[in-house]
Amino acid sequence: MAENRTVIQEKSLSDDLLHEMTSKLQKIVGEERVSVKEIDRLSTCRDFWPMASIWFMEGRFPSVPDLIVWPENTEEVSAIMALANEKGVPVTPYGEGSGTLGGSIALRGGIVLDMKKMNRVKKLDGENQMVTVEPGLNGSLYEEYLNRQGYTGGHFPQSIRCSSVGGWLACRAAGQFSTRYGKIEDMLVSLEAVLADGTVIKGRDVPRTSTGPRLDHFLLGSEGTLGIITEATLTIWPYPEKRAMSSFAFDTMDVALEAIRKIMRTGARPAVVRLYDYVETSYHFPEAEEAEDRCMLIFLIEGNEKIVDAENDICTSLAREHGGVDCGEEPVKHWLERRFNVSLASKMFRQGAVLDTIEVTSNWHNAFEIYKNMQAAMIGIEGVALASGHYSHVYPEGACLYITTMGTPPDEDKEAFYRRLWNVAMEACLSQGGAISHHHGVGLHRGQWMESEHGEGLNALRSIKKALDPKGIINPGKLGMEEAEKWPK
Ligand SMILES: Cc1cc2nc3c(=O)[nH]c(=O)nc-3n(C[C@H](O)[C@H](O)[C@H](O)COP(=O)(O)OP(=O)(O)OC[C@H]3O[C@@H](n4cnc5c(N)ncnc54)[C@H](O)[C@@H]3O)c2cc1C
Repeated sequence: MAENRTVIQEKSLSDDLLHEMTSKLQKIVGEERVSVKEIDRLSTCRDFWPMASIWFMEGRFPSVPDLIVWPENTEEVSAIMALANEKGVPVTPYGEGSGTLGGSIALRGGIVLDMKKMNRVKKLDGENQMVTVEPGLNGSLYEEYLNRQGYTGGHFPQSIRCSSVGGWLACRAAGQFSTRYGKIEDMLVSLEAVLADGTVIKGRDVPRTSTGPRLDHFLLGSEGTLGIITEATLTIWPYPEKRAMSSFAFDTMDVALEAIRKIMRTGARPAVVRLYDYVETSYHFPEAEEAEDRCMLIFLIEGNEKIVDAENDICTSLAREHGGVDCGEEPVKHWLERRFNVSLASKMFRQGAVLDTIEVTSNWHNAFEIYKNMQAAMIGIEGVALASGHYSHVYPEGACLYITTMGTPPDEDKEAFYRRLWNVAMEACLSQGGAISHHHGVGLHRGQWMESEHGEGLNALRSIKKALDPKGIINPGKLGMEEAEKWPK
C-alpha cells in the first residue's frame, strides 16, 4: 500500500469519511470522474520538486491524496468546494504538476482537484485582443490554438509543454519572451475563481478599473491556497510580422549587464534577453567560437516590422559599444530549437545527483553581487559540482537571476544536502537585498523563507487566508501560510 511509503503526509481521511465523500462527489460529477484507485492517486502525489522526484525514485511518495476528482465546469467546482468545506476535507488543485517546490502535493490527503478536463477555449475576442480560457488548458495547446487564429499569447515558459494556464496564474509564471509581453500577471485581464465555501467570484473583462482592490487579481500567485481558478481572460497579440535575432559575447557578466540596463532605459523591449555566465555559455553554445571563455548575451526581437528594426538597432549598437563581440544569429536559432527541453533533471536524478534551479530577482545595482554571492555560497558546500547562472528576464528596474546547481552529497544524505544548498542560496540572496523568487513560486519548500521576504506582511496574508478559508481546507501547508509539520524549517 502506498500509504505505508509516504514521507511528508500529515493526514488522510478516515474510512467512513472517504466513503461518504466518494458517494457525494459521484453525485456531483458522476462516477467516472471520481477515483480512489491507487494508480490515479499516485499519479498526482508529486510534482517536479526535486525532493519529491528523489523520493519517488527510491520508491517513496511525498503524500498520497485520498481521492481524485476531475471537474468539467465551474458549477461542479463550486459544489465540490461547498461539500468539502462543510466536511472539513482538504482540496488541492492540480494543473500539470510541473511546479518545482511541491505546491500541488496534497499534504493532508483529501481531494486532489485535477483541472485537466477544464481545458476549453471559451471565447476569442480579436477586436479587444483578449482570449477567455479554462485553467486546465495545456500551455502548448493554448499557444497553438492562438497561432492558428493569427495571434500569440506571448507566454513561453520552458515547461510550456507540461504546464497549464491555471498553474501559470497560480504561480505568477514567466515566459522566455517576457521582456516584450510581460509575465503572466501582466497579461491577466480577469479571473473567475471558486472560494473555499463554493462562492464564485469573477472580475470584469475591461483593461483597467478603479473600484477598490481586485479580488480576482489577488488570486495571482496564491498557488491554490485562496481559491480554485476556473476561468481566465488574457491579453493576446497579433502574430508577429517580423523577428530579428542577434548575439554577443562579453568578457565579463557585469559589463554585459550594464549594456542590458542601458537598453532597457531606451524603452526598447526585445522579447528575449538572456545573459549566460562562462559555464552555461560553454554548455549551451559550444559551436560559437567567439564565445569561448566568454559570457553569451542573446536577443530576439519580434512584432511590428518598423519597431523591430528600431529595437534591433538599439540592442546591437549598445551591445557593441559595451565591447560585445558579434556572434550572429546562429546561437539564437540554436537556443530556439532547444528551449523547451526539460530532460536534464531526470537524467541527473537517475545518476544519483541532486539538481535544482533557483530563480531570484535583483535590481540592477545588486544584480552582479547577488550572482557572485549565491554562486560562492553554493560552490562552498562539499559535494557541489556546479552552481552556474544566467539572467533570464529583464526589466527597467532589474533582472531575474536563474541559478542551476548540481552535486552529490558526500554522506549520501540527499535531503540534508538539498537543504544545505537552499539555506545558503536563500541567505546569500536575502543578505544582498534580492527577492527569493521570480517565477517558480513558493509551494511547500520555499515557505520557510516567506517571513524573511514579507516581514509583517506575512501575518496580514495569513489573516486574509483565514478570512477566505476559515477551515484551512484549500491546499493547506503551502505558501508559508502555516508551517508544514513534516517539512519544517
Ligand atoms: C523543467 C521545468 C522548467 C520550468 N520552466 C518554467 C519557466 O520557464 N517559467 C515559469 O514560470 N515556470 C517554470 N517552471 C515551473 C512550472 O512549470 C510553473 O510553475 C507552472 O506555472 C506550473 O503549472 P502547472 O500547471 O504544472 O501547475 P502545478 O504544478 O500543477 O501547480 C502549481 C501550483 O498551482 C496550483 N494550481 C494549479 N492549478 C490551479 C488552479 N486552477 N487554481 C488554483 N490553483 C491552481 C497548485 O495547487 C500548485 O500550488 C518550470 C518547471 C520545470 C519542471
